[in-house]
Amino acid sequence: MDYEKLRKELVEKLIKAGTLKSKEIIDAFLSIPREEFCLPAYKDKAYIDVPLPIGWGQTISQPTTVAIMTEALKPKEDSRILEVGTGSGYQAAILAFIAKNGFVYTIERIPQLAKFAERNLRKVGIKNVKVFIGDGSLGLKEYAPFDRIIVTCCCPKIPPPLLEQLAKGGIMVLPVGDHPMYQRMTVIEKRDEGDLRMYEIGFFSFVPLIGIYGFKSDSF
Ligand code: SAM
Repeated sequence: MDYEKLRKELVEKLIKAGTLKSKEIIDAFLSIPREEFCLPAYKDKAYIDVPLPIGWGQTISQPTTVAIMTEALKPKEDSRILEVGTGSGYQAAILAFIAKNGFVYTIERIPQLAKFAERNLRKVGIKNVKVFIGDGSLGLKEYAPFDRIIVTCCCPKIPPPLLEQLAKGGIMVLPVGDHPMYQRMTVIEKRDEGDLRMYEIGFFSFVPLIGIYGFKSDSF
C-alpha cells in the first residue's frame, strides 16, 4: 500500500476543507505516519477520515478532529504540552513534531495503551514525549505549568487541576459535556493577567474521561 500517497491525499482534502491551515501543522500531518499508530487489522484504513479501534474500547481520533484540535491549540516550537488521553500516541506525535524544542507530557489511564503508544512513538522516532499512566483529570502537578493542555476524551466539566496547571498566556482545548453522542469543543485561553477567555468551536463525539474529575465509569 502506498501510504505516503494516501497521506498526501488526505492532507490535501483537509486543506481544501479549511480544516488544516498552519504550515507547521500541515508539515506534521505529512511527516507522522498514522498507519504506525493503528492496529495491524486497521492499517489499510489509516487514511480514511474516521476514528479507528485501538483496543480496550478506545479509538485513535479521526484526522479531522486531530486537525481541528491542533489548530485551536496553536502549539509553538518551544511549547511544553500536556495531553490527557494518550490512546495510540498519534496526537502526541503530531504535537511533539511541532514542539521540536519543547516537550509533550501525555497521560493514559489504561496501562496497555500507554505501552502501545510508547512503542508507536519509538517506531516513528519521536523522542520528546513522555507517557505517564494515571488519571489525567488530575493533570501532572510536578511538571506544571503547561503552555498548552489538550484533552482527547470527554469531560463532564472542566477539571479544576487542569485550569490551575495551565500557564498564564496558555491555551487549553477539551471536549466538555455529558451527552454520549456530542460534546462541545471548548477553547480556554488564560491571559497574562490570569483571567480566562472561553469559546466553543463545534460539537464532537468522544469516549469519556474516567477519573476523579471525570465520569465514574465507561457509561455516561
Ligand atoms: N489522543 C489519542 C490518539 O491520538 O490516539 C486518542 C485518545 S482516545 C479518543 C481517549 C483516551 O483517553 C483513551 O485511550 C482513554 O483510555 C483515555 N482516558 C480516559 N480517561 C482518562 C483519564 N482520566 N486519564 C488519562 N486517560 C484517560
